[in-house]
Amino acid sequence: MSENKYEAQRERLLYAPKNGYEVATEEDLAAMEAYGKGYIAFLNASKTEREAVKETIRLASEKGFLPYVPGMELKPGTKIYSSNYGKSISLAVIGKKPLSEGTRIAAAHIDSPRLDLKPNPLYEDDDMAWFKTHYYGGIKKYQWTTVPMALHGVVVKQDGQVVEVCIGEKDDDPVFVVTDLLIHLAEQQMKKPLATGVTGEQLNVLIGSRPLPEDEDSDSVKLAVLMYLQEHYGITEEDFLSAEISVVPSAKARELGFDRSMILGYGHDDRSCAYAELNALLSMTEIPEYTSVCLLADKEEIGSVGISGMQCDAFEFFMEQLCDSQNVKLRQCFAKSQCISADVANAFDPNYPEVSDKRNNARLNHGVCFMKYTGSRGKSGSSDAPAEFVAKIRRLCRENGVVWQMGELGKVDAGGGGTVAGFMANRNILTLDAGVPVLSMHAPQEVVSKMDAYMTSKAIMAFYGDKE
Ligand code: MN
Ligand code: MN
Repeated sequence: MSENKYEAQRERLLYAPKNGYEVATEEDLAAMEAYGKGYIAFLNASKTEREAVKETIRLASEKGFLPYVPGMELKPGTKIYSSNYGKSISLAVIGKKPLSEGTRIAAAHIDSPRLDLKPNPLYEDDDMAWFKTHYYGGIKKYQWTTVPMALHGVVVKQDGQVVEVCIGEKDDDPVFVVTDLLIHLAEQQMKKPLATGVTGEQLNVLIGSRPLPEDEDSDSVKLAVLMYLQEHYGITEEDFLSAEISVVPSAKARELGFDRSMILGYGHDDRSCAYAELNALLSMTEIPEYTSVCLLADKEEIGSVGISGMQCDAFEFFMEQLCDSQNVKLRQCFAKSQCISADVANAFDPNYPEVSDKRNNARLNHGVCFMKYTGSRGKSGSSDAPAEFVAKIRRLCRENGVVWQMGELGKVDAGGGGTVAGFMANRNILTLDAGVPVLSMHAPQEVVSKMDAYMTSKAIMAFYGDKE
């Protein structure tokens, strides 16, 4: 009896996602390398949502995108963008079909977990100067100690002047750090669970230690820091009250592994998807059938709320203006629109296999990961995409040579999480989650593979190029 008796059936009936390196073309591999370089540059230029918006505008302007102004003529091929308060941005390329037939939307977020300065951050303790922080997003606090950190953000003075701050990125810039207890005296700390070994109130950033010369008064180190800030940024202690300064890892993103197949960096969640969308939109060579929209929002890590979050009406307002120019009702446009909500997935980590169902978890290098649903427990909080839409995306991926896989966020009842998909779906827009699989998600340094990052962009290119 031949072992291969069922070869044909095996080939036809069984399904297993493939490693991208088994199926990618030479062309893909070359494009992937170029993509990786562009992505690393984007990551390094975009450590906060404000910086991501700026970099997006810079890249889009190079490709002929114009800031949207009410009343401007919108014809097929017109490229526009609109930023809300410099913290979220919508971009669009007007398609051949009228907006009454819907759009193709890709949505991602551009905020990442980090430490934000408290409103009153600056203090001196034991002749050292510190910043108090309040962490932003979900973090394992112990991971953020002893990591070189940079300060990014803005201080807005009472007269409205915006002072931009970025310290800790240039090679000769100083950096900052959250200290940790020496192991020699950590007997009690080491017995604590990871969740409480380092607490939120211990995430204080060391920023100075040199007192002013010949100063007998208290808080001399703190005053020296303030004098430096006054000299270089023109700010006073009170100005921190109207500031948004984030403490983020200062390391630059770089290639990871002997084979350079991966990228180690801060903020892959969700800039790997934001860049995938942006790259797909900016590398468009033909006028799309459907208007292509890219929404990059802030505040996903804390619930997509607020003036710059995915739930904000700014998106409706932007789309409504486009619709008005064609005398189309916004709701009519949304009802026919389709969206890929691009947010990172958890890559299976063989060091922690117990939290995943291996048959239903994204794997590194197996391409962009679609998620029919996310959520916790009984899919709670998830946007469960209709099977019809999943089938369509499968078809698009196959037709366009996209390496892809389907995943779930870990084992049933292991935890869970949500993303922005539900907020797009709530607008009556057909929405499917997709994203780049990530290792060490929400850590100061996260890992993605170049293959998966590239394939995510390729999937969105296919989606924007949709003709159905
Ligand atoms: Mn995310
Ligand atoms: Mn996240």
